[in-house]
Amino acid sequence: MKSDVLLTRTGRGSRPPQHLADLDPAERRGAAVALGEPAYRAEQLSRHYFARLADDAATMTDIPAAARGRLAAELLPPLLSVVRDVDCDGGTTRKTLWRGFDGVLVESVLMRYPDRTTVCVSSQAGCGMGCPFCATGQGGLRRNLSTAEIVEQVVAAARVLDRGLVPGGAGRVDNVVFMGMGEPLANYRAVLGALRRLTDPVPAGLGISLRGVTVSTVGLVPAICRLATEDLALTLALSLHAPDDELRDTLVPVNRRWPVAEVLAAMWDYARRSSRRVSIEYALIRDINDQPERAELLGRLLRGQLVHVNLIPLNPTPGSAWTASRPAAQREFVRRLRAHRVATTVRDTRGREIAGACGQLSASEEPQA
Ligand code: SAH
Ligand code: SF4
Repeated sequence: MKSDVLLTRTGRGSRPPQHLADLDPAERRGAAVALGEPAYRAEQLSRHYFARLADDAATMTDIPAAARGRLAAELLPPLLSVVRDVDCDGGTTRKTLWRGFDGVLVESVLMRYPDRTTVCVSSQAGCGMGCPFCATGQGGLRRNLSTAEIVEQVVAAARVLDRGLVPGGAGRVDNVVFMGMGEPLANYRAVLGALRRLTDPVPAGLGISLRGVTVSTVGLVPAICRLATEDLALTLALSLHAPDDELRDTLVPVNRRWPVAEVLAAMWDYARRSSRRVSIEYALIRDINDQPERAELLGRLLRGQLVHVNLIPLNPTPGSAWTASRPAAQREFVRRLRAHRVATTVRDTRGREIAGACGQLSASEEPQA
């Protein structure tokens, strides 16, 4: 994966082609008219894309054949092509590596559980935040993804589910988590557009409930404050990884700009305004951030707040000396947080062997046994 990334051209400065999913319904009508077509073609195309999940213009038979090709070329251009799909867990976890129009590589992961299906999406090609334990962070930022490139990852997952290509019969996407490559709040406008497209009712969008959406951030305080004003009932997750500035400055370099106290204050404000419980993500790294005294400090910072902690066993990245905590240290960490009455779960390691390739995670949570 890493060598693939290095071999591709940088995408800086170039923009992906515009796509239906970049536009809101009014803009789509405007685009249809600009192409010399009646405005209602926009609704027809939206239905094909968001409701039927069509990927072949030839099946759009309610649009005259003469117009179909041009509309599809202008409003449904190919954005991402599959480099490879990797399965595990009997086919119910599937990671897709995508190539953008300019060669950048991004990935998404589909995870099917008995009761729900989650898609983990990338918001940027690469990431500029430089967290040393994260494989994505090591390559730097290549470029922001467009709204439609983010939406496409979910539409592609919805399509394979709808067509019964994932074991368990035909299904749909219930949850979307922004926990793939990139820092979603550093690509604010495109991510906000994607949130609208994912959650707008069919056929304007995919009709996924905002309550099923989680945006994970490294802690960009101004963007968290701005998101709080958008009135979106989504779950916001903060990648904290250390309760003290001294350690967090090294694990999460943006902490030097927005330290622990400031970012937690922004999260509590978000929780208050949205009346939604926020999540704290904490990758447990052996002998680095998993000491009992750090669990104590974390417990004291979080107790009494509308919060839930997700502990994530570190996925070791190639070339790094860091590894996951010992089971006893993990258990003690959980015990101490719970002693402060902080809701705490350990994320399961599902899909680890495939999702681990980029140092990212499957997003499901399982209570600690
Ligand atoms: N940039 C955002 C979202 C993408 S990363 C963020 O950092 O929150 C999604 C989650 O995976 C974050 O909590 C991140 O810290 C975590 N992560 C990254 N690399 C990891 C690794 N090697 N092992 C465990 N968790 C990791
Ligand atoms: Fe970027 Fe998140 Fe990785 Fe940090 S953990 S480098 S913010 S993707």
